[in-house]
Amino acid sequence: MFRSIVNFFIFIFLGMSSLISCNSLETRWYKGNIHTHSLWSDGDDFLEMAAIWYKSHGYHFVSFTEHNTVPEGERWVYFPSHYNRADYTEKFGNWLQEYVSEKDNLVRLHTLQEVKERLEKKDEFLLIEGMELTAPNNVHFNLIPPPRHIDIEGGSTVDDTFTSCLKQIDKAEFDKNAIVTINHPNWEWTLRAKHLVEAKNIKFLEVCNNCVESNNQGDSKHNSLEEMWDIANTIRLLKNIEPLYAVASDDAHNYSSQDVLNALPGRGWIMVLARELSSEAIREAMLRGDFYASTGVSLEKLSFDGKQLYIKVTPQPGVSYKITFVGSLKETKPDQFVLASGPKCAYPESACKILSQIDDTQATYSLTGKELYVRAVVTSNRICWQYKETICWQQAWTQPVGWTRRMEK
Ligand SMILES: [Zn+2]
Ligand SMILES: [Zn+2]
Repeated sequence: MFRSIVNFFIFIFLGMSSLISCNSLETRWYKGNIHTHSLWSDGDDFLEMAAIWYKSHGYHFVSFTEHNTVPEGERWVYFPSHYNRADYTEKFGNWLQEYVSEKDNLVRLHTLQEVKERLEKKDEFLLIEGMELTAPNNVHFNLIPPPRHIDIEGGSTVDDTFTSCLKQIDKAEFDKNAIVTINHPNWEWTLRAKHLVEAKNIKFLEVCNNCVESNNQGDSKHNSLEEMWDIANTIRLLKNIEPLYAVASDDAHNYSSQDVLNALPGRGWIMVLARELSSEAIREAMLRGDFYASTGVSLEKLSFDGKQLYIKVTPQPGVSYKITFVGSLKETKPDQFVLASGPKCAYPESACKILSQIDDTQATYSLTGKELYVRAVVTSNRICWQYKETICWQQAWTQPVGWTRRMEK
């Protein structure tokens, strides 16, 4: 384990210097969204149109995560009403295959493979296989790539459904290094911190899902997703379970709308420090924790040498930044958390703490030895999106560090 964290630091440093050097261990940052829908499920545009949106907006990779289905095989759907054909034709010519009768206007959906052949470009743009396991009671997980087969069973309650999904995920035969994420826990106030503790074999959490109803920030009765993340990671580490890493995503469904209430693309993404632009390399880097989540803040530098976590923002003109280091202390005990008494989990003062905070574009946190883990979050004064009083600020979340040696014991 110690070796792996040393490698992590080397990767980080090489990643930073790789922009100017050319060696075989070179790594670089890739931007991607790993939660996306198209007409293959309940998105409102063709997969190729969604993919080209991302390609033309500076993304390197996208994972299509349709509800309980994968974009393969022959599928015909009703042609979407009020569809902007001119926009499609401008990008793809007469690629659509339609069936028109007096009663019906059907169109064949292009498979992921067909769109890959048309849009992928080595080192520039990649489409990654995925699926959103969509169980009853609003319990959803992204499986990237999906296993060949998985049963989707509900239960009468959220708890039953969640437990049943975890069992099916554990049983399924995944590719090596598959990514499984717990999606939008606060949508319909579905999940609690206790579920994130229970999901001990899952390593990723959507700490920011950018559908307006995702309730990322919680309310007076519910923990925010950041709080749930910290509560769960504290308890997980105290029980020698690896912490969850955070992703931000679009959960995009609506591609030609400007309505803030729609699930628009371009609001949340991850930046992954990988050796190359391939599904395997992106997933390997994510499993190492070599990535951060963002809703608009970019990082110029991110390093951890075992003692110091250093973060430097890529500043934008006229924008100010607050860097906050958050963590829990080792003195915390699992029985100090009240997980099951209601929707809002109470936690002790030694957990989920602001360890330090500064208004600046760079900051260092030096670990004292008392921390269970530390993470950084950068918050800018610029808005990503706003609906009434709900504001999603442009932010960046780095992954928890400082916990690896503890796991060795
Ligand atoms: Zn979902
Ligand atoms: Zn979704």
